[in-house]
This record gives sequence, structure tokens and C-alpha cells, in this order.
Amino acid sequence: MNTIAIVGRPNVGKSTLFNRLVGRRQAIMDNQSGVTRDRHYGYGDWTGHNFTVIDTGGYVHNSDDIFEGEINKQVKLAIEEADVVLFMVDAEAGLHGLDEEFAHILRRYIGKKPIYLVANKADTNLRAHGSGEFYALGLGETEVFAISSANGSGTGELLDAIVSNF
Ligand code: GDP
Ligand code: MG
Repeated sequence: MNTIAIVGRPNVGKSTLFNRLVGRRQAIMDNQSGVTRDRHYGYGDWTGHNFTVIDTGGYVHNSDDIFEGEINKQVKLAIEEADVVLFMVDAEAGLHGLDEEFAHILRRYIGKKPIYLVANKADTNLRAHGSGEFYALGLGETEVFAISSANGSGTGELLDAIVSNF
């Protein structure tokens, strides 16, 4: 089964995109803030391509104390399982120190798996245009897709790119 992993620091909108990709029926509500959670799996399809989506989030939300080791573990497990990796950042917040940590982990997978840098919360054109700053994360040829998981803009183009790998 074609598998897509969504990784990135807390609060960038991973679960919101997950819910959009897998549809309402399988949506997972985050009612356990502050509780350590595992990876979540859902199933979706786009233009006739079926896929599995993995939402990562297995670390404490309401804490500044996020250990690099735990991030490493979650990200690596999801990436190992995935055919395509979505590295999500927040276009509203801009570049964040933790984004650099994820980029560091992901860099070693460049050329081994398709990685898409997804600048979420690009709810407006203005914000979408500002998402070029994420090229500074140094992920080689990785393309930045500006999307809004909230209103759906840009998600069709992203999905077209993803399923071209399947
Ligand atoms: P996660 O921790 O990465 O899984 O992030 P969540 O999916 O839980 O979202 C974190 C917050 O960002 C929530 O308040 C969402 O409603 C909000 N959010 C998610 N996607 C968007 C978006 O595209 N635009 C805006 N403005 N807010 C969003
Ligand atoms: Mg989440």
C-alpha cells in the first residue's frame, strides 16, 4: 500500500491535513493534549490512487521540553514505513528552531524517498508567497508546497505531486 507520512514540529497542522486526506469518517480528534500519543493511520484516495496516511504526534503538546531523541524516534519510524514524506512547517509562524532539527533528520533521506516540504497555514496568497523562506532549510531539490489544511487551498496540487510517485 502506498504510504504517506506527515512529520513536523507540534502545531503546524499535521493532524488537520491528516483529517482532510482521510476524510471525516476516519478523522482522529485530538482530545488528549499533553498525553504522549503514537502514530495514527488512515486511508484515503486521490484520482484513483489509494494510500495510507501516517500522522505523527507522539510527543507532549503542552510542553517546551521536547527531546530530540523522541522526535528522532517518531520521525524515523514513520519515514521508514513511508513511500512519500511530507515535512510540514508553519507559514504563519515562519521558520522555527525545531524545523531545523527535523530538516537535519530528513536530510539523510534525500534521494532515497520523495520528500515534500509543505508550508501549511498559507490561507492567503500573501502568505503563500512568503513560504519561499523555507528553502533555507536546505533540503536540496525538495519543492515547497504552500497549502492551507484549513481551507484546502493548494492541497490538490500537493496530492497530484504525491500520487505521481505511486
Ligand atoms: P499538529 O500538532 O501538527 O497536528 O497541528 P494541528 O493539526 O493539531 O493544528 C494546530 C493548530 O493549527 C490548530 O488550532 C488548527 O486549527 C490550526 N491549523 C491547522 N491547519 C491550519 C491552516 O491551514 N490554517 C490555519 N490558519 N490554521 C490551521
Ligand atoms: Mg497532531
